[in-house]
Amino acid sequence: MSSGREWFSCPSCGKRFTYWVAEGNPHPKVKCSFCGKESFPGGEPEPASEAPKPAPAKPAPPAAPGAQGS
Ligand SMILES: [Zn+2]
Repeated sequence: MSSGREWFSCPSCGKRFTYWVAEGNPHPKVKCSFCGKESFPGGEPEPASEAPKPAPAKPAPPAAPGAQGS
């Protein structure tokens, strides 16, 4: 994959224009400069699967009272 200009037809107004595909970003969001419609000519980027969720922080249990008995 390399970067370069690609032709794109706006699905909303049908205008043709070029957009720039950056290397490393095969699914750029292109905004039509004529009607403002945003679309993904390279296909919508897949949502990140298995997004790491930070584990909910558990409050530390209260310290048990020290001595039992005695
Ligand atoms: Zn358009």
